[in-house]
Amino acid sequence: MTAEIERAAHAYCPVCTPDPGRGDLVTALCGATHPFWGRRERPVNNCPACEALAAGTVYPCGHTGSER
Ligand SMILES: [Zn+2]
Ligand SMILES: [Zn+2]
Repeated sequence: MTAEIERAAHAYCPVCTPDPGRGDLVTALCGATHPFWGRRERPVNNCPACEALAAGTVYPCGHTGSER
């Protein structure tokens, strides 16, 4: 279960992680670091922590979701 969440549905800061490749180690908004497997493969299993953080104005890294 956890593994599926780790693989599929974390949200990423577009500034810190502009273009992750498959298998690249990335840090999700919730702080989990793991290989990136694509954002849209499994929209069913969204990480609740990431969802909450992505809905916020400022990401934990200090960037904003709408930064230019
Ligand atoms: Zn997450
Ligand atoms: Zn960032």
